[in-house]
Amino acid sequence: MADPVSLDPPLKGQCLCGAVTIRLERAKPGVDVCHCDMCRQWTGGPLFSLHGVTKDDFTLEGEGAVRSYRSSEWAERASCTECGSNLWYRFVPAGTFSFTAGLFALPADWGIGEQIFVDEMPPYAELAAEGTRKTGAEVMAEAREGGYDIG
Ligand SMILES: [Zn+2]
Ligand SMILES: [Zn+2]
Repeated sequence: MADPVSLDPPLKGQCLCGAVTIRLERAKPGVDVCHCDMCRQWTGGPLFSLHGVTKDDFTLEGEGAVRSYRSSEWAERASCTECGSNLWYRFVPAGTFSFTAGLFALPADWGIGEQIFVDEMPPYAELAAEGTRKTGAEVMAEAREGGYDIG
């Protein structure tokens, strides 16, 4: 899996209406995909995200238009109160953010990185991509091994 790199110039992203803007200074150059049932209900498809972004890696404007939903004991999902765009998934125990990839105009060479929860993927969401694929159980085991309290 790719390591985070400094982005110069920073990547600018925004929701559909522009009330929330994000300036990303560091990220892993690639788009991760979550095929879990919750992400599918939340987004209407797989969640394409810039994964594992820390608080120090970005600045945010328009916080007043951000609504956060606690979707499980360990996760929050944020959206724009004005236009409904999904903004990020936050893994609470690590404090990391996964920004929805569609907020940003990404460099053309950023492909798909890791695909997770592939065991919950419906046939229509199969992507023609190489790279690591993990089941939900593998992802959860990894988080526990990392010392995160996810029950
Ligand atoms: Zn908006
Ligand atoms: Zn998911």
